[in-house]
Amino acid sequence: MTAKVLSGAEVAESVLGEVEERVRALAARGKSVGLATVLVGEDPASHVYVRNKRRTAERVGITSIHHELGADASQEEVESLIRSLNDDPDVDGILLQLPLPGDLDGQRAVEAISPAKDADGLHPMNLGHLVLDTPVLAPCTPSGSIRILDHYGIPTSGANVVVVGRSFLVGRPLAILLGSKDRNATVTLAHSRTRDLPALCATADILVAAIGRPEMITADYVKPGATVIDVGINRTEAGLVGDVAFDDVVSKAGAITPVPGGVGKMTIAMLMANTVSAAERRLG
Ligand code: NDP
Repeated sequence: MTAKVLSGAEVAESVLGEVEERVRALAARGKSVGLATVLVGEDPASHVYVRNKRRTAERVGITSIHHELGADASQEEVESLIRSLNDDPDVDGILLQLPLPGDLDGQRAVEAISPAKDADGLHPMNLGHLVLDTPVLAPCTPSGSIRILDHYGIPTSGANVVVVGRSFLVGRPLAILLGSKDRNATVTLAHSRTRDLPALCATADILVAAIGRPEMITADYVKPGATVIDVGINRTEAGLVGDVAFDDVVSKAGAITPVPGGVGKMTIAMLMANTVSAAERRLG
């Protein structure tokens, strides 16, 4: 058996097509959509991520408003810039690129973002809405992973799901979303202290790897025919690899996302979807 490869690139294109239509519909009502990006410091990877986000925004008709601060910026400077964007009527979404350099407190800075403009869905208010089963702006990588399942018609209701990794950015919100009354999966959230991880993972109908360990998930973690969602992005000497050993797992799983071309493509697309949702809500 060879698994079906779930193309995040294809799903992202379909999400971006929908976003473009919604942006046009808002323009017809006299409302333009603006995404502010805030980049602090010189980290090359962060510069690449922000450039890609800005390019994608412009491609779908969202105005990109970019701000850069030096690595020596103070916490107050970062938060004061965010507050000015909260008050700016041309800004619908705010993206603060994380991590912040040095001693700057990224979590505190995220809390300065108005929840209504929180394009990344990482403000405690928006994370709280997930727990209440009333999502408003959901975090992009988790909602992008679910969108892939939806696109390929992979049911979550009643499915046994194991999510490996419990970060507030990916694993934990994804587990909450999958276990919601909308999704109805039975979810186990695994982490570095989980006992006998391979045996647990091998019970999953849907296995999600959000670990940050190159190719850790091998075929012995996978139930025959399971769906495997690889969130990991690891830069190795061999290039970009996921948390799943693709070549090993592809012959055992029923469906699998590749790296690159999988979940990574969805994160930016969902950022655009959140930005247009924020604009629609502001217009009422
Ligand atoms: P974190 O480092 O914040 O979290 C990693 C999680 O994996 C932790 O919960 C940790 O457990 C768990 N873990 C680490 N080692 C093991 C192990 N040996 N066995 C079981 N669990 C383990 O990472 P992120 O969630 O931020 O990112 C995870 C991966 O996803 C990374 O590769 C990252 O690059 C990628 N990523 C991809 C995105 C995309 O757009 N596709 C977006 C964001 C991230 P514990 O809590 O016990 O320490």
